[in-house]
Amino acid sequence: MSLRLNPLSVAKGKRYACELCGRNALLACQHCRVTYYCSVDHQRQDWFGIHERICQLLGALRTLRPTLGSEDERQRRNLTVQMSQHALIDLCKNEAHKAMVAGQYELAVPGALQSLRFSMEVYGAGRIELVPAYLLLAESNLGLRRYKVAEEFLLYANWSVLKNPDCSNDLKAQLYRNFGKLYAAQGRFKDALRQLALDVYYSALESGPEHIDTAAGYFYMADVFLTQGEVESALALYDKVVDIWYKFLINLRHRPDESITDYLSEAQIGEAVEMLRSVLETRRQHLGANHIATGEACYALAIIKHVTGFDLDARNHYNQAIEIYTSQLGADNESTQAIVRALNDLPPIPQQLLIKQQAALEAQKQIEAEARRKKEEEERAKAEAAYAEAQAREEAQLLAEAEAAVLAKEAQAASSSSSTAADAAAAPVSSSPPSDPALDSDLQQHFDALKLEHEKATDNENDENVTEGNAEADAEADTEAQDEAEDAAAEGEAEANAEAEADAEDATANADDNAEVDAQAEADEGENTQADDQARDEQDANAATNNDEAAE
Ligand SMILES: [Zn+2]
Ligand SMILES: [Zn+2]
Repeated sequence: MSLRLNPLSVAKGKRYACELCGRNALLACQHCRVTYYCSVDHQRQDWFGIHERICQLLGALRTLRPTLGSEDERQRRNLTVQMSQHALIDLCKNEAHKAMVAGQYELAVPGALQSLRFSMEVYGAGRIELVPAYLLLAESNLGLRRYKVAEEFLLYANWSVLKNPDCSNDLKAQLYRNFGKLYAAQGRFKDALRQLALDVYYSALESGPEHIDTAAGYFYMADVFLTQGEVESALALYDKVVDIWYKFLINLRHRPDESITDYLSEAQIGEAVEMLRSVLETRRQHLGANHIATGEACYALAIIKHVTGFDLDARNHYNQAIEIYTSQLGADNESTQAIVRALNDLPPIPQQLLIKQQAALEAQKQIEAEARRKKEEEERAKAEAAYAEAQAREEAQLLAEAEAAVLAKEAQAASSSSSTAADAAAAPVSSSPPSDPALDSDLQQHFDALKLEHEKATDNENDENVTEGNAEADAEADTEAQDEAEDAAAEGEAEANAEAEADAEDATANADDNAEVDAQAEADEGENTQADDQARDEQDANAATNNDEAAE
């Protein structure tokens, strides 16, 4: 938003000064191009303080060339400029006031400065019309604790006031009030009280001793007494402040066709609220939260909130006041009843708001209940999952054990050579089961596959064994018969032939017996396998049932 100034393009003898501090400018506003700044900081402060709202107008005003055109045209143009400047003075003063009430003194300075600048252009230096702008600058610098600068502006204002004996009492009162605040801030309490007494005097001359304009003087005097520890004097002055405001506000509340803004500016309302709040706090602290004077301050604050449309605040303060009045004066007391009536007078908007609040509260409760329910559900699911997992682990363990037992039995039943294969097949089963219950079906399949594989392997080996045994028996019988026949041949032919025949017969019988035994063994094994299969099926069925139960 800023435009860097090129020093080479600046006309000779021409100097651009910062809008805020007057130092040599390096930047220009890129929108109006007629406002200059020494730094980005000062540009920002000016922008948010006032320039944002007057940039366009300033651009138009500052680029007007009063020397061109006819005399008539020039006069008309001057009139337009003057009217614009008057409007700008008011605008700047209002903006500065608003910032001050909001406690943004930094942002009040640009508006106050601009209003002084326009006032000087319109009225000329040393004129009484400059005093409001001086006072604004003094006040904003007071807020920033720049007491020296504040004092300088007050001295300018004082000089203008002294030079103009016709100066209004109101302006004098404002001047003395600011001097009073300055001296109070500097710890010069006697000087402060003297200035504030002058403020009260001129305010009373202007509006009367019981007027809200005069109340501010009492309030700042009370502040000085309080700072010095003179609580009694402070409380006495606060009584006066609350009394004046209470009367004003009650009158206003009973005239519904009138608005508080008919009498007070936004800044004055803000000041009044701050004063009453401060009185309330001081009374609470020094008199007690349940003192009737504290209740009065609550009531006054409630009414000002009521008439300015802050209904929720008003409701709060009315309720506090009713509580105090009821405990001190009784529920039937006329004053208590008056506050109850005022509370009931509040427009229905807050009730809608209350309903909204209630609805929001309900929604919040529902959300919380839902969250609680979800959490409980999650916890239950977690517990169930843990239980199922434990169950599955147990089942897997059982299954593995059963499987191992079966395999061991099979291994035992089969020849010793197959035991290594059985061990190898059983090994993965006996290792720790997977923790995830979702893997159970996989595990089951794995087991089944292993079983099948193992059975196949066992069958093959048995077949081989049987064949081997038969072959061995045959070979043995053949060899034996051959040997014996050879022996017999060596011993004697006739005898030997007969003997050999008999031996050969025995050998064949032996071989037959062997084959029979093997066949018997095979038959036994077949029975065993059948029984094992039955046991395994039962086991599987049990496991499946358990799994289903766990899943449920
Ligand atoms: Zn500057
Ligand atoms: Zn601009």
